[in-house]
Amino acid sequence: MPNQSCFTNSNAELWQALDWQPSNEQLEQMITLQVLLRQWNTRVNLTRLVEGDDYWITQVFDSLWPIKRELENPQQLRYCIDVGTGGGFPGLAVAIALPGANVTLVDSVSRKTAAVTAITETLGLTSRVKVRTERAELTGQDPSCRGLFDLAMARAVSTAPVIAEYLVPLLKPDGEALLFRGQWNSEDKQDLAKALRLLKADLIKVERRELPGNRGVRHQLRLRPSLPCPATYPRRVGIPTKNPLGA
Ligand code: SAM
Repeated sequence: MPNQSCFTNSNAELWQALDWQPSNEQLEQMITLQVLLRQWNTRVNLTRLVEGDDYWITQVFDSLWPIKRELENPQQLRYCIDVGTGGGFPGLAVAIALPGANVTLVDSVSRKTAAVTAITETLGLTSRVKVRTERAELTGQDPSCRGLFDLAMARAVSTAPVIAEYLVPLLKPDGEALLFRGQWNSEDKQDLAKALRLLKADLIKVERRELPGNRGVRHQLRLRPSLPCPATYPRRVGIPTKNPLGA
């Protein structure tokens, strides 16, 4: 594991802003994740946000601030899924921060999932992190995933109605979908509301936050099923983006 001397005072401020402190092991895992992303980036275009504040704020902090409630009970067994994980965010940061969580990472690009699988192995997380190379439209119809997750999340994958169609079918009756958004306005809310009527889910929370270091505004949206999601959703591969629900 790399030396912890890379943990600077500014990182201490970061954890303060998050109101959460990683253990030494979690901190080492996050530092190792940064090293591994740098290495893999030379072979696969995973993410450009791997240095300094780009990594610690725009990747790590941004992945963790919306799960403040879950961080209060990190050992709880939770089934989590990150759809469109790319280089492993937010899913790998969530897996490190919640040692009780079982995390499934989904992406359709096999170069990315091969890299994320190797990273998961080096981090020693294979017993509770699984990687699937798959379109989200198929994951949501697979009986080994449908209706089985406590927390289904996605960041920077598509518009809110499209993400809702990917995530809601994956939820347990009392599970929650977590949508990471940048800007969020009343028009976005109306579009999402139309999709949620069809998916039989409710928007239960919208929270706004400014990232430290003037890194911009973020919103988290939480959705919860109101009734079982109709079997037709998610629709066939490509249809959710081509013809978004409620459009
Ligand atoms: N979530 C990561 C992040 O925030 O850094 C990656 C975001 S990247 C912009 C979007 C990722 O979503 C890509 O890796 C892409 O392959 C994946 N993706 C988009 N649509 C998808 C789908 N229908 N099924 C699976 N993966 C998808």
